[in-house]
Amino acid sequence: MDSRGQAVVVGGGIGGLSAAVGLHQAGWQVRVLERAPRFSEIGAGIVLWPNALRALRYLGLGEQVDAISEPQRSGGMRRPDGRWITRMDGQTLEATFGSPAIGIHRAHLHQTLLDALPAEALHAGVDVRQLSDVDEADLIIAADGIDSNLRKELWPTHPGSAYSGFTAWRGVCHYDGYVDIGGTLGRGAEAGIVPLADGRVYWYTSMKSAPGIRHDNEKAFVLKEFGSWHDPLPALIEATPAEGVLHHDINFLAVPMPSYVSGRVALLGDAAHAMTPHLGQGACQAIEDAAVLKAAASRAGEVTEILAFYDQHRRPRSQSIAKLSRQTGGFTSGITNPVMERLRNGIMGVTPTSMAMRSLAKIASWTPPA
Ligand SMILES: Cc1cc2nc3c(=O)[nH]c(=O)nc-3n(C[C@H](O)[C@H](O)[C@H](O)COP(=O)(O)OP(=O)(O)OC[C@H]3O[C@@H](n4cnc5c(N)ncnc54)[C@H](O)[C@@H]3O)c2cc1C
Repeated sequence: MDSRGQAVVVGGGIGGLSAAVGLHQAGWQVRVLERAPRFSEIGAGIVLWPNALRALRYLGLGEQVDAISEPQRSGGMRRPDGRWITRMDGQTLEATFGSPAIGIHRAHLHQTLLDALPAEALHAGVDVRQLSDVDEADLIIAADGIDSNLRKELWPTHPGSAYSGFTAWRGVCHYDGYVDIGGTLGRGAEAGIVPLADGRVYWYTSMKSAPGIRHDNEKAFVLKEFGSWHDPLPALIEATPAEGVLHHDINFLAVPMPSYVSGRVALLGDAAHAMTPHLGQGACQAIEDAAVLKAAASRAGEVTEILAFYDQHRRPRSQSIAKLSRQTGGFTSGITNPVMERLRNGIMGVTPTSMAMRSLAKIASWTPPA
């Protein structure tokens, strides 16, 4: 088949690879340029909601992802002492969202995306500093992450990424004991436990902090801060090798982009809409971006039409989810005052599940364009 055109994807993270899979399937000749010496993802898990799963099915990867993911059949929020603030059973979650969210290891998802691309499309060790580093492309997807070089070049007045006020630790470990899925809210801090398909467990913690603070022993620090929280969180941290405890400050795009498109270039994933992780939607939105790009790029038409469709279908939704994620973080783990903490728990405890789920259902019920 003659290709529809030449596309270059800058960045081989979850967003860039998803976009490359979509464009490849839409009949484009694709090259992915990745700065790192090899294609890889960090050793942590991730939660994907039903909206991202629909997007992955649309990218033809439903069965592959089902095989390496663990459905999250319950959920809710606890206090650090283990008492539930709010709890959701699997039936309610499935009735509201259409299907359960999943827990998946990032490396497994990343490998599934790599496997869906021809080997000759993948070019590691290529640092794209500016647009002129990309030759011969009808379409360029800037999926080069939150501090995207291409975004800085094309939108020089945009302020770029900002610190959210939260710093996060993540890890994956082997654990044989019983694991009750869900999140935990403390005072200016949050944690979560997500079982993975291979029997391992992904955990995350985050807390309010000044930016840039690092500890000689990150694992010891997390245990000091979260070691008195309910089981099995301390045991999970303990079971994680010290070098597997990852620490990152959480940055995001505080000022929404005025457009995701400039000429033949489209921003995608964190380059377009990096958001705080409080709704677990950053990668989900990147995968949605890729599905919409595939839908647009499958049609006959000029690149300008394809990208106008993409911008129109992606910007309002992803930016409103980014805003909601930020607000959610402020209400959940952003509260440091004990009185406000009790008020938050009280409000969450008396809010009917159906009401709490309504805004989340809007996010989770998304389907790819026809
Ligand atoms: C603590 C935490 C927890 C999270 N949990 C979830 C969750 O549960 N669910 C969810 O959906 N999302 C979650 N997210 C968000 C999610 O991780 C991101 O939104 C997602 O990984 C973004 O993917 P991306 O491909 O757009 O960007 P990235 O993963 O940043 O990929 C960008 C790629 O571009 C490459 N690159 C950069 N510069 C260049 C260059 N000059 N030339 C070539 N290549 C370049 C990089 O090396 C990298 O491979 C979480 C985020 C954090 C911080």
